Amino acid sequence: MNNQTLVARDLARVWHPCTQMKDLETLPPIPFRRGEGVYLEDYDGNRYIDAVSSWWVNLFGHANPRINAAIADQLEHVEHVMMAGFTHEPVIRLSEKLAEVTPEGLTRCFYADNGSSGIEAALKMSYHYWRNSGRGEKTKFIALTNSYHGETLGALAVGDVDLFKKTYSPLLMDSIIVEGPDCFHRDEGESWEAHSRKMFAQMEAALAEHAHEACAVIVEPLVQCAGQMRMYDPVYLELLREACDRHGVHLIADEIAVGFGRTGTMFACEQAGIAPDFMCLSKGITGGYLPLCAVVTTEDVYAAFYDDFETLRAFLHSHSYTGNPLACRAALATIEIFETDDVIARNRELAQVLHDSLHEAFGDHPHVGDIRQHGMIGAIEMCRDGDRNQPFPWQERRGLRVYRHGLTRGCLLRPLGNVTYFMPPYVITPDEIRHLVATAREGVDRATAD
Ligand SMILES: *Cc1c(COP(=O)(O)O)cnc(C)c1O
Repeated sequence: MNNQTLVARDLARVWHPCTQMKDLETLPPIPFRRGEGVYLEDYDGNRYIDAVSSWWVNLFGHANPRINAAIADQLEHVEHVMMAGFTHEPVIRLSEKLAEVTPEGLTRCFYADNGSSGIEAALKMSYHYWRNSGRGEKTKFIALTNSYHGETLGALAVGDVDLFKKTYSPLLMDSIIVEGPDCFHRDEGESWEAHSRKMFAQMEAALAEHAHEACAVIVEPLVQCAGQMRMYDPVYLELLREACDRHGVHLIADEIAVGFGRTGTMFACEQAGIAPDFMCLSKGITGGYLPLCAVVTTEDVYAAFYDDFETLRAFLHSHSYTGNPLACRAALATIEIFETDDVIARNRELAQVLHDSLHEAFGDHPHVGDIRQHGMIGAIEMCRDGDRNQPFPWQERRGLRVYRHGLTRGCLLRPLGNVTYFMPPYVITPDEIRHLVATAREGVDRATAD
């Protein structure tokens, strides 16, 4: 078995996600046969650093012995059991753990089997809460420009990335999209905090106008990942929490990508000292092993559904693999690693290495208009003449050129448009980070040479 034969078979039968399949004829998918720590190895024996954590899911490396052992042990007991009318120890323990590690007041855990489904559950739950509370006229959601909450129709409707949304817009419910705090658009010399504060005025105005018909505001705390790793200051979340309370609107924190240490704290909301009404957690929750989403909410929300069956106030929403025991065990093993290995403290050192390397490599680059970072997520954005207001046309696909160069140096630097980002598993070493950044610098030089 080698790369070439597997690619031929793949291209004859498989339809890949988020992919123009024609692209794969010139840039074929890489078949991996094994993973170990930050490395993935293909069938020709090439090794690559997984700089994007396999789409932001992997936290503690591939084939992590501790997570492997937890799943193997669970396999000996029970692989899956439906959760309507039944339960199991892994989901009980995980729910206790999540209530303990998430911000104060989040005590009730509802499960879905992937991020988008979890978003759907949170949206429905928020609407249904208001309906059960005699406020059935609240049917709308407020979201930010450039936001991403998944690809199912409800999740897409509260997103705002044209590339994913525009084609399907005739199918989607109407959301109220508010100009967000994306600090890429700050003025020259303006701080992230000042820009984020300034942009909040638009959210305040939207809440004043729409609170009577709005169920919730949904945001990705601190980093809009699929929206090209655009970032903002925690102060925005602080202002948002206060305003949502004042206007009687829920706050849904989509920490699907940023949760579990990515932004430097266990959850991004912690940096603003706030607790949302709903926190959606997926991706890293299982260390990147199995699909699982937890929607963690408050006793207040829970209580609005609690009644005699005949009142039909219950949340009658389910997914077949809700609370899968194998996924819960992977999640428990993942959270345990955070507790025993002081991960957040070590990440602070790694984040400093990433910061220093990025600024050293790109600080004066003539075609890099922005270097941004929140904890373990770093990104650089290529712009014509290094000017943030002069983007390279997306059709030129310059990020893809950086990616192709990365492949020749053993780095998986999958881009988002003209943005190259670094979101590695936490088991990466400082030297591996420096290698990734040096490789990206070579790639950006090549990608912007013409
Ligand atoms: C990935 C992602 C989702 C969707 O999760 P899936 O498991 O891919 O459906 C939702 N919100 C954010 C912020 C994400 O990054």
